[in-house]
Amino acid sequence: MQVTGKCYCGAVSFKASVDPTRVVVCHCTDCQVFSGAPFRAVLPTPASDVEVTGQANQYIKVAESGNRRIQAFCGQCGSHLWATEGVGEPKTMNLRIGCIEERDQLVPTLQIWGHSAVPWLGQLSTVPVHSKGPSSPLQAD
Ligand SMILES: [Zn+2]
Ligand SMILES: [Zn+2]
Repeated sequence: MQVTGKCYCGAVSFKASVDPTRVVVCHCTDCQVFSGAPFRAVLPTPASDVEVTGQANQYIKVAESGNRRIQAFCGQCGSHLWATEGVGEPKTMNLRIGCIEERDQLVPTLQIWGHSAVPWLGQLSTVPVHSKGPSSPLQAD
């Protein structure tokens, strides 16, 4: 399917042809820290199927194994956009589904690094939900 994505401020955007059955939720601690969220959801997509507009900033993450991964983000608003191989031409872009407009349709089919998943994840469906912000001045953004 065709999707469009952009960072919060719109400085970086992309169009991509994706396989919506390949969405992966990653519970690794690196994804938790990088995203600032309890887990990250990504959609691996061949780099040749992604057309980027604008210039993303890059942070090169070096794993203990020496493996290098480029973490692309907007230099203006800080939104995380994708990750790619840190050596040579990028082959696969792990698109962060939070910045894809069609994210409602991108249902995860696999979870990885489950051993570091936050232990309360399974209880989330029992936590009270407000359809919009609560009446108190609590801000989550
Ligand atoms: Zn931005
Ligand atoms: Zn991860």
